[in-house]
Amino acid sequence: MTYKAEYIWIDGTTPTAKLRSKTRILADGAELPIWGFDGSSTNQAEGHASDRVLKPVASFPDPIRGGDDVLVMCEVFNIDGTPHESNTRAALREVAEKFADQESLFGIEQEYTFFQGSRPLGFPENGFPAPQGGYYCGVGADEIFGRPVVEKHLENCLAAGIGISGINAEVMPGQWEFQVGPLSPLEVSDHLWVARWLLYRTAEDFGISATLDPKPAKGDWNGAGAHTNFSTKAMRENYAAIIEAAEALGRDDKPLEHIKHYGAGVEARLTGAHETAPWNEYSYGVSNRGASVRIPWQVEVDQKGYIEDRRPNANVDPYVVTRLIVDTCGAALEKAGLV
Ligand code: ADP
Ligand code: MN
Ligand code: MN
Ligand code: MN
Repeated sequence: MTYKAEYIWIDGTTPTAKLRSKTRILADGAELPIWGFDGSSTNQAEGHASDRVLKPVASFPDPIRGGDDVLVMCEVFNIDGTPHESNTRAALREVAEKFADQESLFGIEQEYTFFQGSRPLGFPENGFPAPQGGYYCGVGADEIFGRPVVEKHLENCLAAGIGISGINAEVMPGQWEFQVGPLSPLEVSDHLWVARWLLYRTAEDFGISATLDPKPAKGDWNGAGAHTNFSTKAMRENYAAIIEAAEALGRDDKPLEHIKHYGAGVEARLTGAHETAPWNEYSYGVSNRGASVRIPWQVEVDQKGYIEDRRPNANVDPYVVTRLIVDTCGAALEKAGLV
């Protein structure tokens, strides 16, 4: 007998990479082998030397096919064994290892928008829906669009063993959020990429598409972000470490270094309006949803916990944002003796 393994990988499309996947039939009990693909069809190779290598790094029960079938997250390598330039997970492995003793945890809030044809789900054929105000965490057919897809996606994530921790309807019609974590840097990123794949795959069966476009509707409509919540062991124990992490993200050339890699089109979303801080002015504050980094109210009360980097776009690569934050805050906390 056999089982099916869906090999999932991140392609080389710029400025925002896409997910790709294909199916391998394996004998029952067989381990997940290394596999190959045509990189010239995924912006990862030229046609004359097109072979690229898929190396399984995380596997999940496949909730779509069921049975013993699995979803397999992969890293992409060149045939000489070096990580392909699109392989951002390889660099995270090194940084995560370097600061492993700080026990970093991340919870990422993934916002996204459903589309049917060329319009966000819930936008009428002509004109616009009622202005924002009632949609966030709303209920009722006049405010909520796509709930059956969202519920199915949640079920699929739970069945796959994704560390999903919640869902909510967002500020714009057709816009939703799910949260993954708190988990280690590699885990949260692997889980988020597979949860994204499951989102597209689940919506496909409803004839609906989902997009991580950071500004899917122009004008007075909220963009879509991926707020990145972060803590180390020291931050979960004392407030000085919370403040040092928030300070470190604003020091020297760090703000721009981070922003550059927080998702294509980040400047268009971080305007200073719609619960954002301007992309070129770093700030942090307690309870402040207009700051780059928010210290949750409860964290100030408890004098320990985590910080929320509100800047990453919905289309950010979690392997990149978690690497930058672990690197910047990990080094600063170490230097300050807050470990
Ligand atoms: P918001 O009020 O910003 O919408 P959410 O409830 O959507 O907040 O998300 C909060 C996130 O914070 C969750 O993803 C959760 O996993 C994460 N989180 C909670 N505690 C920690 C922690 N100690 N370290 C890192 N992330 C955390
Ligand atoms: Mn949220
Ligand atoms: Mn949100
Ligand atoms: Mn948030």
